[in-house]
Amino acid sequence: MSLRGKTALVTGSTSGIGLGIAHALAAEGCAIMLNGFGDTKEIETIRRDLANRYEVKVAHHPADVSKPEQIRAMIADTVSQLGPVDVLVNNAGIQHVAPIEQFPDDKWDAIIAINLSAAFHTTKAVLPTMRNRGWGRIVNIASAHGLVASEDKAGYVAAKHGLVGLTKVTALEAASSGITCNAICPGWVLTPLVERQIAARAGDFKLAIEQAKADLLKEKQKLLSFTTPEQIGAMIVFLCGENGATMTGAALSMDGGWVAQ
Ligand code: NAD
Repeated sequence: MSLRGKTALVTGSTSGIGLGIAHALAAEGCAIMLNGFGDTKEIETIRRDLANRYEVKVAHHPADVSKPEQIRAMIADTVSQLGPVDVLVNNAGIQHVAPIEQFPDDKWDAIIAINLSAAFHTTKAVLPTMRNRGWGRIVNIASAHGLVASEDKAGYVAAKHGLVGLTKVTALEAASSGITCNAICPGWVLTPLVERQIAARAGDFKLAIEQAKADLLKEKQKLLSFTTPEQIGAMIVFLCGENGATMTGAALSMDGGWVAQ
């Protein structure tokens, strides 16, 4: 229970990696502000399950993180319901796959807003209070695509490279205030975001889903297994603990050897 008494805001935590992170932080006693879209009843089930299982306060805010004013409202609501944000995890993200010439302008704008600008607005909003309290942890969920590129992912690769840059600036500016900021750069994680890409690949190449999954891994991820949301959650708990206290400004690969190639 290393985070008992602390409050975490995890964007995009109604699904996939963000939900895994919420479980890991709640298991350490952290109060959680969930964020993200989905069916209202299902989100309430997630909220209640976390609260009952770990005996922590859990709330949900439906802010669309592409809207700065909704981000500010979510942070104000977190403070009033759960207390100041001690741990901020910028995780919400979307993907769109198309070559640059066919990349829709509105998809580009949405990816930059959700995968990059949102982290600027949340960070800007929480830093003053973290500084006053002399402690804070900011973790940005980037990607192997924050460090290397793939074709057909212009918006995503640009946003994630930007997020790694924002991580470094935040780390430097906050270093004197007991605040660390790191990026985690996962390779493939089996979540709805990737399941959609697997389904598209299966359709394009007329493959069974299991074969499409195996091919996806073989192309980039030498270990041939998916990183899990639980492993990413455990890394964040480490970064929040004493042993992670001097790690800042890092881009931490959890990618089965993807960027080693
Ligand atoms: P996911 O689709 O399962 O979950 C995305 C979450 O973000 C959901 O809760 C969704 O409701 C929320 N969301 C989407 N748009 C939002 C918006 N405008 N405002 C608020 N919430 C919004 O995806 P995931 O795979 O769990 O991805 C989470 C993060 O991890 C993303 O930033 C993604 O780029 C990154 N990532 C994923 C993988 C992977 O292989 N799955 C690999 C590297 C990095």
